[in-house]
Amino acid sequence: MAIASINPVTGEVLKTFEPLTDEELELKLELADRTFATYKHTSFTDRAQWLNQAADILEAKKSEFGIIITLEMGKTLKSAIAEVEKCANLCRFYAEHAPIYLADTPAFTDASRTLIRYQPLGIILAVMPWNFPFWQVFRFAVPCLMAGNVGLLKHASNVPQCALAIAEIFRLAGVPEGAFQTLLIGADRVAKLVADPRVKAATLTGSEPAGQSLAAIAGHHLKKVVLELGGSDPFIVLKSADLDLAINTAVTARVMNNGQTCIAAKRFILEEAIADQFTEKFVEKFKALKVGDPMQSETDVGPLATPQILTELDLQVKASTEAGAKVLVGGYRLPQEGNFYAPTILADIPLGAPPYQEEFFGPVASVFRVKNIGEAIALANSTNFGLGASVWTNDPQEIELAIEQIEAGAVFVNSMVKSDPRIPFGGIKRSGYGRELGIEGIREFVNIKTIWIN
Ligand code: NAP
Repeated sequence: MAIASINPVTGEVLKTFEPLTDEELELKLELADRTFATYKHTSFTDRAQWLNQAADILEAKKSEFGIIITLEMGKTLKSAIAEVEKCANLCRFYAEHAPIYLADTPAFTDASRTLIRYQPLGIILAVMPWNFPFWQVFRFAVPCLMAGNVGLLKHASNVPQCALAIAEIFRLAGVPEGAFQTLLIGADRVAKLVADPRVKAATLTGSEPAGQSLAAIAGHHLKKVVLELGGSDPFIVLKSADLDLAINTAVTARVMNNGQTCIAAKRFILEEAIADQFTEKFVEKFKALKVGDPMQSETDVGPLATPQILTELDLQVKASTEAGAKVLVGGYRLPQEGNFYAPTILADIPLGAPPYQEEFFGPVASVFRVKNIGEAIALANSTNFGLGASVWTNDPQEIELAIEQIEAGAVFVNSMVKSDPRIPFGGIKRSGYGRELGIEGIREFVNIKTIWIN
């Protein structure tokens, strides 16, 4: 894919970029390697100061960055600005908490002193997607820099201006040159980078095929990898739930980011007793969504990021209806310029149709009916994905059952699934492995060194 900013509302090519030559890439690798030798000795105080400075820059220029995000990938400007604010919070949170998460931990043995020390590994490569073009990168970069590692970013090819803006933010914040660099390269250059002995580990957020490809190469070279891949999260609503709250949240959980979120609720699993009531209101709310120019404050749903995503989503909906699913609202691409798809709800989905196994990366909800929590959990677990799950009930036994039995990296009860700087994030099954954020996340890319002193 060419490295280019293309406005998803108009199809206009805003800017194109030449990928780095092999020589330029080598210079950046050399610089990262050299920088690590000194960066690893910087203090938490210095790193925290740089990241607090980065937070100041993000906050001061949030509208400017929000516009870049919206122009490149089409999310609503208000959500783009919120994403930038969230990155600022993340910087401040890790500036304060990373020294605690990475402090020596005592262990209790028969030695006179035993402890665990967390030391940086070196260059960490991040391969990132376009859907949260700031958040995904900061979620990697901030813990990476606080831990004393240096980062190389290969961002998605359709968000180069975001990629360059992020590198510039860290530069202006005072992060030493070479500690964080953006590489404008295509996906075909990733394998060689992973194999390079100077690159110590890699993290990829994106699709399953991309994750498989990177993990295979990293495995061959015995390098650690964190993978944050796709999801088809269940949103289970049981009869004791606060229905109005569940329905309002369901709409947001499905259509936020124009439906292109890994942890979006994608399969709505409803207990029969409330299924009709839920579905009726859910459809009403989908009909009321304003689709259009993401720059306008009244817009709820903007375009999909690329024409390919639009085509793929349309094919998935068609395959579902051909299999016998019913369209309750939407079900078509909008007859206008840009990558717009009508907010859609599918119901009466026959077993084996695409919503049972595939991720729908756009504003398409699939509704399923079940008799009880047992059936709900079985259906929730029947995909290959295992990222997040949202469960709505006020019955303590059902809450416990859901927490215990749902196969996912996160279960949120009476709340939509969120990525929050304070808690670990990641999946199981084909949604990937490893964690970002929280203590667990920041300790993914460190040498957990055991110290035994007799
Ligand atoms: P994608 O095509 O896999 O792209 C993601 C990144 O991987 C891009 O930088 C891409 O580069 C690169 N890439 C693609 N193929 C590669 C390969 N064979 N080897 C190495 N790198 C490769 O994913 P996407 O379509 O942009 O993103 C949507 C997917 O990401 C969805 O499945 C979504 O659920 C998932 N996602 C997961 C999370 C999570 O935290 N679990 C968060 C957000 C998104 P190019 O752009 O140059 O091709």
